[in-house]
Order: sequence, then structure tokens, then C-alpha cells
Amino acid sequence: MAPAERTVDVVISEVGTRDGLQNVDTIMATDAKKAWIAAEAAAGVPEIEVGSFVPARLLPQLADTAEVVAFARTLPDLSVAVLAPNLHGVRAALDSGAHRISVPLSVSETHSLANVRRSHARMFEEIAAMVAAIAEQPADARPAFEVSLSTAFGCTLEGPVSEDRVVEMAERAIALGADEVGLSDTTGYGNPAQVKRLTRRIHAAVGTERLTGIHLHNTRGQGLANVMAALDAGLTTIDSSLGGLGGCPFAPGASGNIVTEDLVFLLEAMGLCTGIDVERLLLVRADVQAALPDETLYGFVADAGLPKGFAYAPARHRRSA
Ligand code: ZN
Repeated sequence: MAPAERTVDVVISEVGTRDGLQNVDTIMATDAKKAWIAAEAAAGVPEIEVGSFVPARLLPQLADTAEVVAFARTLPDLSVAVLAPNLHGVRAALDSGAHRISVPLSVSETHSLANVRRSHARMFEEIAAMVAAIAEQPADARPAFEVSLSTAFGCTLEGPVSEDRVVEMAERAIALGADEVGLSDTTGYGNPAQVKRLTRRIHAAVGTERLTGIHLHNTRGQGLANVMAALDAGLTTIDSSLGGLGGCPFAPGASGNIVTEDLVFLLEAMGLCTGIDVERLLLVRADVQAALPDETLYGFVADAGLPKGFAYAPARHRRSA
């Protein structure tokens, strides 16, 4: 039921409306979220993670996720993604009609216990139950189900994370019935050599079609270098956030998620089509900043502007054209 494949070289998956908003104090009004999502879709963004099905008492910022999904589904050609941390969340996501469901699975068990109070054994039981719940849906209504391997490049609690462990957990998730795994540098510890090595190892273990996407943070300034490594290793979907919003920055002034505007510029300047109009994206950014006046947005392109004579990648399929 996901929208037809788009003819782009790299799929940019915007996560600002989930990862961004869950990490800021401001609770954005539902209408402002809808306007943000509609404007990014109109700028050509092919996929947006619009929310998370978590209890409203834990994340009041995302309490309106069902309504936001319903709205986003009315937008043409947009893949509507959500996060769900547990079976209850997956059921809510299924009811909402989201095209794509991601469940975070922390490779660091210490992080998993601290974050969702679940051991790995308990998480794998939950994932098996999620797969079963999705399988109950009619075949043409089943969303894509991804297990996102968080803390895959290192953990603030455990420190280094074993790559063997990451590969084992990817194999286990696929064996349980996940459609895909994703790699997530939750802590911004990753470096390009590590991104390449781990991607290749997981591809060798479960197949290239089972790992296509990566979620990178720019906490230590390695975000776009890691994107290059991910592309070299064959990944085709990159998560990013408008203005770098969210991503759990660990220190004041440190940015979190990689910045969508800068990522689009990087790819288009290299001749890789994203389908996204970066000038329109900068207008969306101004609207989001106005709706979140107390939050800091990041990004170099917004500050410096596009280079004189900047040309988009050829053969692009801009929805806004
Ligand atoms: Zn993030």
C-alpha cells in the first residue's frame, strides 16, 4: 500500500516531525504539524516520519500522531512513516493506516533497559508479536515493518558496541519476520569507515534488500561524511531533520540529526536526484522556525545560501515543478 517507487537516486526520509518534535519542549499545534508535512511533501520530500505511537503522558508532543497520520495519508505520493516502541504502538499504527512502521531496538542492552525497560529477549518476543499482528492485516494493507538498530555505532552507557552483536541482531530481526533492518547512530559516535564496514557486513548476512536505510546524527560533525560512506556501501535511504531539529543533542549547542537542507544540497550538487526543491525547503524551515521560536535550528545552506549558478541534479522528478 506504500506509494509507488519514486524515480530518485536517494530517498530522503524527513524525521523532524517525530525525532525533532519529541526532543524539544515546545508542543507544536496539530495544524502547524500538518502545514509542515504538507509543505515538505509539496517540496518533493518522498517520505516523512510523522509521529510516534507512544503514551501521551510520556511524549505529549506526539499525542496527536493518529490525526497527523490520517492527514498525511491524504497527500499524494507521500510515504507516511511512524515509530512504534511496542506491540500496543504497532496496533495503533496499524489502525492509523501508516505506510511504514519502525521499531527501535537498541543493540546496547544497557541502553534498552534504561530507555524502554526491556531486555533483548523481551524485545525479540515483542518483535515476534508485532510481526504476527501485521500478518493479520490483509496482504494489500500491510505496512512495511522495519527494526531500527539503535546505538549501532556506540552507546553513551556501554561505550563501544560489538559489530558482531549488531550483525547478529540484524539476522535475528529478519529471521523473526521484519521486512528490513535500519542502522541508527543514536549517539553520533559513528565514523565513515565504521558505517561502510557495518553496512557491508549486514548486507552479506541478510541481503542488500534487507538494509537500505540509515539514521545518522551530526553530534560530532561526522554526519555528512557518514552519509557519503553509507552511499558508497549501497544504502539508498537517508534520514534527516529539517534544521537538524531533535536527535537528542547531548550538549548545549551540539546539533543532533543531520540537516535535511544540507543533505539535499550535498546530493543534488553531486548529481544525485532527491526530487526535492531545496529553495522551497528553506521556506518551510522559516515557517517551522516561526512555529517554534524558542528552538534552535541548524544548517549551513540556510546560513550561506545556495552557490551562485547552483544546478539541481539532472533527470529530476520534482513534484513541485
Ligand atoms: Zn535522530
